[in-house]
Amino acid sequence: MSSEHLLVNCIFCKIIRGEIPSHKISETTESYSFLDINPLSEGHALVIPKYHAEFLHEVPDRFLADMLPLAKKVALAIGLDSGEYNLLQASK
Ligand SMILES: [Zn+2]
Repeated sequence: MSSEHLLVNCIFCKIIRGEIPSHKISETTESYSFLDINPLSEGHALVIPKYHAEFLHEVPDRFLADMLPLAKKVALAIGLDSGEYNLLQASK
C-alpha cells in the first residue's frame, strides 16, 4: 500500500501501515476501519482516512467520499441495522 500521505510518527498512520496492531474490520484504498482499543460502547469502531491530517477540512475529498460508505458497511457488518448507532467526527 502506498504510504505517501501518511506520517512516520503518527499512531493512526502506524495502525494503517500495520506497525501497530489493530483489530481491522475492513479497508479500502482510501480508508481503514478498526475496533477502538478502549471502546466507549459496544461495537465502537473507527473509520480513518489513509491521509494524515490534523483536521477534517485538510483531508482531500476523495478520501472523505470513501469514509462514509465504509462506515455504512461497518455498521451493517457489526449488526447495527436497527439504526441504533451514532457517528461522530473528532479531530482532537
Ligand atoms: Zn496520521
